[in-house]
Amino acid sequence: MDYELVIVGGGMTGLALAALLADSGLRIAVLENRPSPQSFRAGEPFAARVSALSPASCRLLQQAGAWEGILARRACAYESMVVWDGTGAGEVRFDAAEMGEPALGYIVENRIVQLALLDVLAQKTAVELLFSAPMQGFVIRNGQVCVELEGNRVLGCQLLVGADGADSQARSRAGLDWKQDDPGQKGLVGTVVTTEPHRQTAWQRFMPDGPLAFLPLPDAHACSMVWTLPSDVADACLGRSRASLCDLIAAGLDQRLGAVVSVDALGAFPLQSAYAPSCVAERLALIGDAAHVVHPLAGQGVNLGFRDVAVLADAVRHAPDPGASGVLRRYARSRKGDNLLTLQAMDGFRLLFGNRSPLLTPLRNSGMQWVERLPWLKQRLARQAMGV
Ligand SMILES: Cc1cc2nc3c(=O)[nH]c(=O)nc-3n(C[C@H](O)[C@H](O)[C@H](O)COP(=O)(O)OP(=O)(O)OC[C@H]3O[C@@H](n4cnc5c(N)ncnc54)[C@H](O)[C@@H]3O)c2cc1C
Repeated sequence: MDYELVIVGGGMTGLALAALLADSGLRIAVLENRPSPQSFRAGEPFAARVSALSPASCRLLQQAGAWEGILARRACAYESMVVWDGTGAGEVRFDAAEMGEPALGYIVENRIVQLALLDVLAQKTAVELLFSAPMQGFVIRNGQVCVELEGNRVLGCQLLVGADGADSQARSRAGLDWKQDDPGQKGLVGTVVTTEPHRQTAWQRFMPDGPLAFLPLPDAHACSMVWTLPSDVADACLGRSRASLCDLIAAGLDQRLGAVVSVDALGAFPLQSAYAPSCVAERLALIGDAAHVVHPLAGQGVNLGFRDVAVLADAVRHAPDPGASGVLRRYARSRKGDNLLTLQAMDGFRLLFGNRSPLLTPLRNSGMQWVERLPWLKQRLARQAMGV
């Protein structure tokens, strides 16, 4: 047996699992399709893909040894969050101070999370990182997984972890079911610069087509934008002149941060809501987007993935055979409730806010006003989202 674990996918969740287990005595290989990422240069432009990390995710990255490396590059703590209904008067404001917390979370570029985790792994002899090494397939033979790479190379392991994202080959080759809802939407993402400073606040306006979110970046006037739009509208935005797109975005946010003076790193990503009813198979466990993809409206995707990472790391750390069916059953049982609840909550929000029915507008507004007026309810919602 070459390894106890082979992790396919060197995204945020795959690398976090490897880093958490790097000193456990398990031998681990991480396979990543893409070449090794370029190192960080101070002042480089902000990347389009960022995540709002909950305090629970920040703690997990600290445990993995990567948090210092993230802060040393760049991250933005956000202290408040303002959510409002674009078709009515409902508005809710969450403040870290009210929660007795220093921050509601951190906005970090995905690439920076990966680079900090790679720094940790570079120091660990138990973990082998293979870049430009796509998994071609796998078979289970004599109680071990034989993972096939290009050039007829085969790696043997006790447990294969599928951290290979929404189009997971690990999942499809294992024949695991994938329940998918394609809402026909794309997330228009980009880095926007506004005339007013963001004040360490995450801004989110709900509109019938989908929410528009501005996530604060380390530069006081720069935010990462995620705007959920029908796919054709998002694609059309990519073809607009920058000046007219800036005006459209500023109007979309009700001019809360003044005018938008520039938008860079523009892109459009298909959005979906999907999950694997079973996240385990014989000698295989799925984590992160390979197991579930949630709508980004509440920024829960990778936070949910990091919760998979924490539970799987605990389940395999001291197991004599990390791929044993009892270990995997325990992992699947512990994650099922949380994953399903989060998926359903995101779909519920999407339907409630994405509905143009005049009957639902007063319901949304009074719901938001209730939340705003009931501090215990507001705290409860915020603590759930923060994972504390
Ligand atoms: C527009 C948008 C905004 C978002 N905002 C947030 C947010 O604010 N907060 C939040 O928590 N989440 C957010 N998310 C979700 C978050 O980005 C994902 O949940 C997260 O990136 C998933 O990480 P992962 O490691 O599971 O998968 P991925 O990031 O998809 O990584 C999978 C890796 O596997 C590799 N791979 C694939 N196939 C193979 C193979 N055969 N062999 C080897 N390697 C392979 C890929 O190259 C990739 O590096 C957002 C998503 C979108 C689309």
